[in-house]
Amino acid sequence: MAERIVSVIYDKIAFIGLGLIAGSMAWATQRAGAATTISGYARSEATRETTRRLGFCDTVSDTAAEAVKEADLVVLAVPVGAMGPVMADIQDALKSGATVIDVGSVKQAVFDAVQPHLPNDVHFVGTHPMAGTEHSGPEAGFAELYDNRWTLIVTPDDADPDAVEKVEHYWAALGAMTDRMNVQHHDRVCAVVSHIPHLIAYTMVGVADDLRRVTDSEVIKFSAAGFRDFTRIAASDPTMWRDVFLTNKDATLEILGRFTEELFALQRAIRTGDGDHLFDYFTRTRAIRRGIIEAGQDTDAPDFGRGATR
Ligand code: NAP
Repeated sequence: MAERIVSVIYDKIAFIGLGLIAGSMAWATQRAGAATTISGYARSEATRETTRRLGFCDTVSDTAAEAVKEADLVVLAVPVGAMGPVMADIQDALKSGATVIDVGSVKQAVFDAVQPHLPNDVHFVGTHPMAGTEHSGPEAGFAELYDNRWTLIVTPDDADPDAVEKVEHYWAALGAMTDRMNVQHHDRVCAVVSHIPHLIAYTMVGVADDLRRVTDSEVIKFSAAGFRDFTRIAASDPTMWRDVFLTNKDATLEILGRFTEELFALQRAIRTGDGDHLFDYFTRTRAIRRGIIEAGQDTDAPDFGRGATR
């Protein structure tokens, strides 16, 4: 376990799902000395073996129920579509008074899936770190992922204030800044800043792939001109992003509708030679970029707001 014990926040923390997000949280937990013991579980033996070798968990169990036994904090770090089944699996093994958090990119669907399995004496708080990379699996994790990045705290109406505060304290110990919002607002904001930009990247790379003539040579050769950033985002985990769109359907369709309207307006401006429209539009968007830089949320490599890069 970590040499740098600063202050223990939870005696035992259990991670269910041992990929990029959980691995990074566990490394950062060790760095902060925020737990005395870290346990973990992943569904495949290969991931469990890799985690044992990497050492970000003190123990890696062969069942989720075994991993959460006596845990004060349980972190659900599996794809959004798997949160409900995982919660059903662990509900009888949870310690009385424990807190369960998820790290899913969508919140309403996770709340709906998790809450029916929540024992009366266990707290639940939704959390969403606005940080990531296009890499996945336990080897992708690193302690600095959350440094100076936002983690959104999404609380059910009846959340226990002390449990929520402790979760915020824990994320701060991992290096993150936290902000609270309600479920609907979270799903809408994330559709704008993350989900639709990913869909656009997937589409752009798909279009280029359709135009084989171009992808064979020029796209690779001249990719630094902007396309490279799309390919990086479009390399993100297919399971995770399938689940995001299946579970955040309403918000993503709403924002996609607005996006399409704007795109048609720009298309019209190009066709009619309306330079003023294009100039005004690009001037407005440039100001948004300046705002992001002023807020300290930019990186050298454009990454659609996901923050840290490796
Ligand atoms: P990841 O690296 O692919 O790891 C996912 C983990 O979940 C793996 O340990 C995997 O086990 C396990 N898993 C997958 N499907 C499962 C299932 N059906 N049942 C049980 N376990 C399953 O994913 P990640 O990037 O850490 O993402 C985890 C969560 O964080 C997701 O909900 C995602 O929405 C959220 N999130 C991701 C990012 C990001 O940029 N990546 C950012 C913010 C939030 P095996 O390895 O054994 O298959």
